Amino acid sequence: MSVPAMSTTVGSFHLSRSHGTPSRSFPRVRMAVRSGAVSVAPILTNLQKDCATSLPVLSHVADAMAADMRAGLAADGGSNLKMILSYVDSLPSGNEKGLFYALDLGGTNFRVLRVQLGGKEERVIATEFEQVSISQELMFGTSEQLFDFIASGLAKFAQKEGGKFHLPSGRMREIGFTFSFPVKQLSIDSGMLIKWTKGFAVSGTAGKDVVACLNEAMERLGLEMRVSALVNDTVGTLAGARYWDDDVMVAVILGTGTNACYVERNDAIPKQTGHASASGRTIVNTEWGAFSNGLPLTVYDREMDAASINPGEQIFEKTISGMYLGEIVRRVLLKMTEEGDLFGKSVPVKLSNPFILRTPDLCAMQQDSSADLQTVGSILYSVVGLESNFSARRIVVDVCDTIVKRGGRLAGAGIVGILQKMEEDSRGLIFGKRTVVAMDGGLYENYPQYRRYLQDAVTELLGTEISKNVVIEHSKDGSGIGAALLAASNSKYEHEF
Ligand code: ADP
Ligand code: MG
Repeated sequence: MSVPAMSTTVGSFHLSRSHGTPSRSFPRVRMAVRSGAVSVAPILTNLQKDCATSLPVLSHVADAMAADMRAGLAADGGSNLKMILSYVDSLPSGNEKGLFYALDLGGTNFRVLRVQLGGKEERVIATEFEQVSISQELMFGTSEQLFDFIASGLAKFAQKEGGKFHLPSGRMREIGFTFSFPVKQLSIDSGMLIKWTKGFAVSGTAGKDVVACLNEAMERLGLEMRVSALVNDTVGTLAGARYWDDDVMVAVILGTGTNACYVERNDAIPKQTGHASASGRTIVNTEWGAFSNGLPLTVYDREMDAASINPGEQIFEKTISGMYLGEIVRRVLLKMTEEGDLFGKSVPVKLSNPFILRTPDLCAMQQDSSADLQTVGSILYSVVGLESNFSARRIVVDVCDTIVKRGGRLAGAGIVGILQKMEEDSRGLIFGKRTVVAMDGGLYENYPQYRRYLQDAVTELLGTEISKNVVIEHSKDGSGIGAALLAASNSKYEHEF
């Protein structure tokens, strides 16, 4: 979209009177005109310049992603990217049978799911799930409080089992536990939390085995279930998508946070010692949220990072994922209100409230196709307390678009980086045939502009021919079923099918 001319304040004065709320906007606009306050156009122009993702910038990001992956595979601590070995070396075959549970803790919500698997013929016979939101209190509470809450949610859900779900007698219910925070995996069913991300600050979990934390909480409740696979959500998504499609090689999550994993050859993992899988392949969890090389960042990103609970960390995540896009836009709008004449003279109290403007709000504003940007106006007013005229609304939409475009395009460049790395090690096996990237997460799912920008970047980087072979596929809630499938393939009753 174009940058509105410097004179729009005066022009929009008339627009706001005819479309909006004259009694409120009239004195504010008049004040702005009289005071000769500064136009916000330069703020927008600078933002667009700092966020620009030209092809050379994207190429650099893709190359740096590939290089960081190699460094992380060479040695622990060798790179920003942890390149965590998942201990998942066999992907679902379709033969899995029986009743399995999955539990997903990953951000704003925690989900429980059960699935009855019927093998090659019947596949997924039935699934049921429930979702519970994680309160702010729990995110800042103790480890026991959080895991007790999860175990009790799981217990309530398990009590409602019936219908098509059936557990052979004498067996314990088995769980695939999707835990989407950085974990040092110790085996398929244990792993130590490295650190909380995505705004979680639970005390007493870092350095502990999260499976043990859950087991202890289940014991406290007298709930007889066991975790047979601990999986990252990206790994669950890859497994879930692979169950239906053999060409799936990469999985990416774009939700509250972001991460990616892919199928790696064992001979390309120098740091792997001992554990050699029969398949010759292992899923590697990149933890790419920590990537930071060559990203186009702005003063708003730096200030948001400095104010965050993990300054200097998760920079890629802070630039492209759902938790942060709204907050970056809020910071830009705050600057425009403080220094420009866009929204009148005073700064609404709400606008100073970190994280009050959320990514779904940006998304709703960008879908507004009304002539006077009615929805944009009402969201600005109800969420951040800003009264806006038409030109202000247009500028806000441009700000959203700038931040979302940068996010989507950088996510696309990251994906190309992973594919490039895989292709370098296995000429033709990635770009020379159909390769599927399974995508999941609320941001990718719900934000059409973001999705389009991501796909555009992939196509620009790979060129039209090669990009025809790269299929980016939405695998909705695949991680839940995927985790249950991994619980099945790692079941302690595995040999009793
Ligand atoms: P999580 O990452 O917490 O496991 P999800 O994958 O469901 O959860 O993603 C939730 C995130 O997706 C939200 O934090 C938000 O940033 C983003 N999101 C949800 N709904 C929308 C929407 N309508 N438009 C844009 N982003 C959305
Ligand atoms: Mg999730």
